[in-house]
Amino acid sequence: MISEFHTVQPSASFKEVKSIVIDQKQRVLPVIDQKGNTVGVITRTDLIQHLGVADRASSSPEKPAQLFERSLSALMESRLPKDILSLLKELGELAQSLNLSIYLVGGSVRDLITLKPIKDLDLTLTGDMDEFIKAFALKHPTARVKNHPRFKTATIDLDNGFRLDLSCARLEYYEYPGAMPIVRHASIRIDLQRRDFTINAMALSLNSEDYGRLLDFYRGYHDLKEGLIRVLHSLSFIEDPTRAFRAIRFENRLGFTVSRMTERLLETALKNGFITNLSSRRVMAEIRRVCEEEEPGPILKRLGELGLLKCVHPKLRIIPKQIERFRRVARIKDWYRLTFGEKFSPVWLVWLLVLTDELEEEELADLVENLDSGQKVARVAIEERKTLKSILRQYQRIREFIKPSEADRIFSDLSWPGILYLMAMSSGDPLSRAGASYLTYYRLVKTNCDGKDLIKLGYHPGPRLHEALIFLREAKLDGLVNTLSEELALAQELLKSGDSDGFDKNDVLRETVDGRR
Ligand code: ATP
Repeated sequence: MISEFHTVQPSASFKEVKSIVIDQKQRVLPVIDQKGNTVGVITRTDLIQHLGVADRASSSPEKPAQLFERSLSALMESRLPKDILSLLKELGELAQSLNLSIYLVGGSVRDLITLKPIKDLDLTLTGDMDEFIKAFALKHPTARVKNHPRFKTATIDLDNGFRLDLSCARLEYYEYPGAMPIVRHASIRIDLQRRDFTINAMALSLNSEDYGRLLDFYRGYHDLKEGLIRVLHSLSFIEDPTRAFRAIRFENRLGFTVSRMTERLLETALKNGFITNLSSRRVMAEIRRVCEEEEPGPILKRLGELGLLKCVHPKLRIIPKQIERFRRVARIKDWYRLTFGEKFSPVWLVWLLVLTDELEEEELADLVENLDSGQKVARVAIEERKTLKSILRQYQRIREFIKPSEADRIFSDLSWPGILYLMAMSSGDPLSRAGASYLTYYRLVKTNCDGKDLIKLGYHPGPRLHEALIFLREAKLDGLVNTLSEELALAQELLKSGDSDGFDKNDVLRETVDGRR
């Protein structure tokens, strides 16, 4: 009944076939000879067999999976904060009243069962999402709703800071490689079937009639208990190579193991060249997520060992020097968190800088271009990197204490991730200690006097006054002046000593300080 579909000639390459069957999701591919006769057909299963891996990873979509159900309502009651619970119940009642079904899905269910903190509320609806959103907005007039009808997703930000990520249960496919996905309504089972790993492919019903019922078609609950990361079907990594990075990330985060079959599938995909040239937006987003994990070091090391980093860029390798640097970044991260808390955390960028340390400027620019955080990342990673490297070269061999005023000059124009990178690269050296002192103290030092005080002393507004203020601040940083009167005395000396060519700060400082002593 479908009249528009691809065909291939008998001479078609495997790559061509893969692109149609996997990337464009045409599961049956007729083979037509030059006279227009159908001489054969290639199915998705043929492709799997060609790759030499039996479809034992789990139940394949062709063989309907067996549903495992259990009630998690008691676990929800004991695990979830009261406000989240009452929100989930409200969502379930609303869906029920509209004759829709709503589920908590993916990572939220995984985190609930593994007793990990739940960061996001990922919700999937079957039925008319617009109707649901309208009804919800009526009850919560101050909620901020962003609807993306084309992708059948929406986010709702509530006043109490909760964010709900809503999507319609869907089937996604691409008309041609690189196209935007076409999204069609589907059942919750089909929706779960397109997901990455069994542990992320469970849904928890919120509707009041079966509140707390777990829907698990792929033995996800079992794998969570066994600590296993398993894909849902044999072509999973070929279909979407970002899953390879996700597998290793979850393995490390949850302390799980990638199952033997899944590891074989990953190796096969790598060996057959399906995971190459991956510096795309989605892979870079995954690299960023690795760098944002609690312990990126072991993840990056494993990605390197498996040969996955090379697929992002051929020069990305994990050498012994790198592993030592990862340890240092981990220490700097701990220090940062103890000192400044969680609020503003640019540390992921430090991991990225260390990971890409061996890349040339243009190579790094190409990678960073695919990162979503845009301008800011590019500024630090590319523009500032030259300066960072030259500071490192200059201070590498310096063993003496770096004067506060000098430290202030080194660090004041750098971004925080840049400073943290320098600290990690020079860990244990005076430069690293100077960086820590700059972030915790030097950057906050201000003079007691201001421009108006200096004008009263006889300065004219302009560059000389500005320079004098900088000079006074540096003197204060180095502990040579402390009080307002000491600063004013020094400013007066500066003014007296100045001639039209400016003044010799060091002479003035020496005389003033010696005089005071
Ligand atoms: P995290 O705690 O890192 O946010 P998460 O599981 O919530 O983990 P998301 O990237 O937010 O991860 O994705 C939400 C859900 O979408 C996943 O749990 C999974 O079911 C599905 N998903 C995400 N990425 C993929 C992918 N590449 N292929 C298939 N399914 C995916």
